[in-house]
Parts: sequence; structure tokens; C-alpha cells
Amino acid sequence: MVTNRIRLFDVIVVGAGPAGMMAAGQAAKSAASVLLLEKTDAVGKKLSITGQKRCNLTNTIDLAGFIGHFGRNGQFLRQSFHRFFRAELLAFFTELGVETEVERGGRIFPSNGDAAFVTERLLDWVKNTGVHLITGQHVHQILVKDRRVTGIHIKQDQTICSRSAILCTGGATYRGTGSTGDGYRMAQAVGHTIIPLRPALVPMKTNGDLAQRMQGLPLRNIRMQVFFSGTRAIDAFGEMLFTHFGISGPIVLTHSGEMVDALRGGKAVKIAIDLKPALDHGQLDQRLVRELNDGGKQYIRTMLKHLLPHKMIPVCCEECQVPFDKPCHQIKAEERKRMVEWMKSLELTVSAPLSMESGMVTMGGIALDEIDSRTMMSKKINGLYFAGEVMDLAADTGGFNLQAAFSTGYVAGSSVFPDNK
Ligand SMILES: Cc1cc2nc3c(=O)[nH]c(=O)nc-3n(C[C@H](O)[C@H](O)[C@H](O)COP(=O)(O)OP(=O)(O)OC[C@H]3O[C@@H](n4cnc5c(N)ncnc54)[C@H](O)[C@@H]3O)c2cc1C
Repeated sequence: MVTNRIRLFDVIVVGAGPAGMMAAGQAAKSAASVLLLEKTDAVGKKLSITGQKRCNLTNTIDLAGFIGHFGRNGQFLRQSFHRFFRAELLAFFTELGVETEVERGGRIFPSNGDAAFVTERLLDWVKNTGVHLITGQHVHQILVKDRRVTGIHIKQDQTICSRSAILCTGGATYRGTGSTGDGYRMAQAVGHTIIPLRPALVPMKTNGDLAQRMQGLPLRNIRMQVFFSGTRAIDAFGEMLFTHFGISGPIVLTHSGEMVDALRGGKAVKIAIDLKPALDHGQLDQRLVRELNDGGKQYIRTMLKHLLPHKMIPVCCEECQVPFDKPCHQIKAEERKRMVEWMKSLELTVSAPLSMESGMVTMGGIALDEIDSRTMMSKKINGLYFAGEVMDLAADTGGFNLQAAFSTGYVAGSSVFPDNK
């Protein structure tokens, strides 16, 4: 229990996610007194649900490609990755008894596929480094005097003094894991700029009830083109999913950040799904002609089973104004053309991201030009450091976000004392 004033710590780390645990353990290696404060009752709650609880730790892609996954802000990470990248992260976890293996897309997971195990091993390491950890301790404020960190406030009248603080409070999504955006408020209160927060890796809502009528239906091997105010901005192949509110699934999540920003910029966002990307219009038309001939007196709904998933058939018929139970041999050429067009370009209008809460990561955060990328120290406040998602850094799926959290945590923790190289 921390009582009213005042023990002096060299470093206080706020938030025990991957960035905070790495930063705290690393700082403690220089024999400094390190206090790690976590507001929930357990460390690494978000870490334990990553990768569908399998924890996609990092990726085999080369450095340039890795940085590219963070968009324009990726260059900020170059210095951190130079000091602590994939090889160092994997060696670190091997030392902790976490073996890893590579999966599709270069994604690296623990071999036992257990995110909770990664969290446990990380926690053991933190404890072994001598970090003083307190859970259930909500930090409210970073205390600053003459542009220097002097400590933190945990409750109205409770202060803990320190020479430095590392803010690792994560983003503002999946609030149940403790990431409720506190770090943004604390950083802003001491003069930092917060780039507007937006959800990324987030399902998207669509207008009308088209998606709803096919909710639960996954689509594989489709092409998704996205148009921002009429200009094609995204052309992706892969898997997606219809839901009761709109669309989700891998290619939607991957490109959701771009769609969120386009909507914020006032652009109309329209999606065209090509259900048969292996066939051009002419080939698909020929295929339909063949199927209709073979179908003869069969209902169109029966014939369409050869081309579409079950749930999509009534929707296709309604949208193309083709009676569900019309025999194949009575289908007119214009009806067939409408079906070809629909299958090649199923259109949806995107209205908004599902919610801030439902994003897997937060875009925006503490402005990077106010942070020294070599040390993670604030350029405004001496002794204040940042690590992880609280900064204006976000990547798509593939293990990039965790690597960034660990790398920046490592750099912040190692830089907090200049003699700790
Ligand atoms: C469902 C899901 C799956 C994901 N899967 C992957 C994946 O497989 N691979 C990948 O690379 N990324 C994945 N991510 C993203 C990744 O989890 C985050 O980018 C990463 O956890 C960020 O680490 P962090 O330490 O910066 O923040 P967080 O993990 O969010 O940790 C922040 C910590 O700070 C604490 N805190 C907040 N405010 C306070 C306060 N005021 N006082 C004290 N403590 C506070 C929080 O309780 C929390 O424990 C996933 C995210 C989600 C939501």
C-alpha cells in the first residue's frame, strides 16, 4: 500500500502492458529503484488476448517493410528497431522459455500458442529484475516542476516522488483491458500535443440492410475495391465477413484505418466486392449461360448454389430483381447481365467505424515530433518518457504493434539513465 507522500523512486512506469513491463524491467537492470503501477488488477490484460489469445509477437518481414506497416510515422521507429528488433525480441523470449514459430504471412507466435503464457513469463522477468509492482493503482497525473518530472499523483492527496516517469498507458480501445486513454490526458496536461484519436483495425458500419441480410457470412478469395469520393484508393484480395452492422474480417480490418481517415476528411467511402475475381465479366457471363442451359427447368435459386454461398442466393435474386423460383430456361439476358454485374461488383456504402472501443489499435496519440526517437524522452519535459501505443503509432495486423511496444519500451527503459546502455 502506498501511503501519503513520499517514497522517492528513480523511475515510475505507468501501465503494465508489454511496453510498460519491458520498460520497467529494462530500467531496473541499472539497479535503479523502479516502481511499476498498473491500474487494473492484473498486468498485460490486452497482451493476453492478442492474436486471438495466441499472441502474434512480431513478423519476419525486413526492416523497411516492417516500418512501412506504420505508414508515414514508421520512420520514428527506425532508431528503436536499430537497438532492439525482432532478433533481440526473440532471443529475449527464448531466454524466458518462450519458444516461437513462424506462421503464414511471416507472423511469429509462441509455439504453444498461448498469449497468457507470454504475459506470465514477462511478469516473472519483471519481478526478477527487482521492479516494485503495484496493481490496482490508478495514476492520475504526472507532476512537473520547472519542466522536470517530480513524481506522480495516484489519488487526490497521494504523491509518489520520482526523478523520471515512463508513460505506457496504451491506446483508447478495448477499455476492459485498462487502456482507457488516460495517458493522453496526462501528457496533454503537461503540454504535449495529442494527434486526434481514431480507431484502427476496426469493423465498419454500412448503410442499408444489405450486409445485415447476409450477417455471419464469411467470404473467401474475394477482391475488395474501396473508392474515396469516386477514386479507387484500395484494391485488396482475401477474406471478409458480413455482420449485423456492416463488414469485418481480415481485409476490412487491415484497411479500416484508411477508411476511417477518409470519412473524417468528409469523403464518401464506397466498397465494390468482386465475388468472382478469377473470372472477368465475359467469362462469368459465359459460365452463367452454361449453368442456365444445364439448369433447364430448375429454379434459379437451385442453380445459383453452384456459384454463391447459400445465404447470398435470396439476396442476389432480390437485388437483381430475378424471381427466386423462376426456371433457368426463362431467365432473360438482361436478368443474367444484372446477376453478372452484381457478382462482379457488389456495392456497399461505408458510413462509420463500429466504435472507438472496438478498434484493435488506436491511431493518433502523443505527437512524435515532441519525442526524441533515440531515447523516447519528451522534448518538453525532462525525465518524462513514453513507450508503446500511447504514442502516435499504429500498424495493421501481423505482429507489428507488439514489436513496437517492446522495442520502444526497451529504449525508454534503457535510456532513463544515461549510464545504462
Ligand atoms: C484484440 C486485440 C488483439 C491484438 N492482437 C495483436 C497481435 O496479435 N499482435 C500485435 O502486434 N498487436 C496486437 N494487438 C495490439 C497490441 O495489443 C497493442 O498494440 C499493445 O498491447 C500495446 O501495448 P502497450 O503496452 O502500449 O499498451 P497496453 O497493452 O494497452 O497496456 C497499457 C496498460 O496501461 C494501463 N493503464 C492505463 N491507464 C493507466 C493509469 N492511469 N494508471 C495505471 N495504469 C494504467 C492499462 O491498464 C494497461 O495495462 C491487439 C490488440 C487487441 C485489442
